[in-house]
Amino acid sequence: MNNKLYGNLIFELSKEGRKGYSLPKNNFGSYEIPSAMRRTEDAVLPECDELTVVRHYTNLSNNNFGVDTGFYPLGSCTMKYNPKINEEVAAMPQFQNLHPKQPAATVKGAQALVSLLEKSLCELTGLAHFTFKPYAGAHGELTGLMTIDNYHRSRGDMARKKVVVPDSAHGTNPASAAVCGLEIIEVKSLANGQVDFEDLQRIVAEQGQEIAAMMMTNPNTLGLFETRIPEIAKLIHACGGLMYYDGANLNPMLGACRPGDMGFDVMHINLHKTFSTPHGGGGPGSGPVGVREGLQQFFPFVSPYQGNYAVMMRAYAYILSLGREHVKEVGPLAVLNANYIKESLKDVYELPIDGLCCHEFVFDGLKDKSTGVTTMDVAKRLLDYGYHAPTIYFPLLFHESLMVEPTENESKETLDEFIGVMRKIAEEAKNDPDLVKSAPHNTPIGRVDDVLAAKHPVVTYRQLQNETM
Ligand SMILES: *Cc1c(COP(=O)(O)O)cnc(C)c1O
Repeated sequence: MNNKLYGNLIFELSKEGRKGYSLPKNNFGSYEIPSAMRRTEDAVLPECDELTVVRHYTNLSNNNFGVDTGFYPLGSCTMKYNPKINEEVAAMPQFQNLHPKQPAATVKGAQALVSLLEKSLCELTGLAHFTFKPYAGAHGELTGLMTIDNYHRSRGDMARKKVVVPDSAHGTNPASAAVCGLEIIEVKSLANGQVDFEDLQRIVAEQGQEIAAMMMTNPNTLGLFETRIPEIAKLIHACGGLMYYDGANLNPMLGACRPGDMGFDVMHINLHKTFSTPHGGGGPGSGPVGVREGLQQFFPFVSPYQGNYAVMMRAYAYILSLGREHVKEVGPLAVLNANYIKESLKDVYELPIDGLCCHEFVFDGLKDKSTGVTTMDVAKRLLDYGYHAPTIYFPLLFHESLMVEPTENESKETLDEFIGVMRKIAEEAKNDPDLVKSAPHNTPIGRVDDVLAAKHPVVTYRQLQNETM
């Protein structure tokens, strides 16, 4: 736990003249930095011995929560276990020390990995070509939409500037369409969580000539399988639009079905979610875009070289270590785990849309609303029991959304323990609601102001000193 002696900030441990590391002797003679380029006062840097530095950062790291420290059921984020062999492979010096400007003849192995990974993704998705340039899912969406825009322009069809996006979509979908200069048409969801086909028919009848594409996520962000995709694809194709598949969470589909077979023309995959790269805290990512045969010449230029290569290496290591046989089990196991938790808790948590879910599902808070305990309170109380909170207040379709995604790697024992804790919190909410409302109690800090740090950031030590003076 947090040890006061090793401080909150490394600056607080600074002692003038203390050294942790000495630079080796300079063998290159003196080099004078032009005086105009030199700072006029000394930089404020902490001065600490090596052991203090090691303890400070090790203690800080112990305050962190990760897939390696506990169950992390953060819905839509697919926080699955990242096998350590991936890291070993990505760290191989033969790959890590390559330079992007090296002569092509000397990087044949690295190029081979790109085409082998592409082949695997084509096999898993039913599409024909992939580009690995996008650095994340949202970047992939933008790349895919630019591809679609280029395709329509190439045919001289300049009127297609609208994208149909379901109201349940991930926020990046409308954002990417807007960045691409396209207008968004929102299509409603039915009470069962699926796209309202009649509403879509109306949209197509009215604006079909202007529709560039329809973006869909399947299973959608409620974790539900959209059953009318073939009809939807037919409708969109008939009016001249293309079908875009948000494959950020391809997890439940692996081995079960393929977007290409369902009628999708363009898609992105989040390698960092589906194919296991640690991505807590926002990175690193890779969002390759796949297309149907004939669309590959419309890929835009969105980044130099081969994208986030080390993430691609991790993805390929993951695919190879599962092999053709076991990659097919990823989807069914992810679906089984999610349904097991859902069925075990739906008597105490509100399940607005019942029925079989895919890799994740959404509760609308506790079933007993009389306690005043919110989804936020439940999420905070989970921290006390050593669990990362599920995704909360997303999707926006319900007031108290609590979205659970266990992933395929978790054992039945882990799921049972989590279910036990969720039931215990529901009990506490009934018998001692204030205990839950004031959680967390066992973490280094209690409830934080969610927006203060964003609205009033303190980003330098000097600033902090001024604030506290
Ligand atoms: C995570 C996610 C994205 C965005 O991916 P990033 O890599 O975070 O940009 C898009 N769509 C869905 C459904 C997602 O879950």
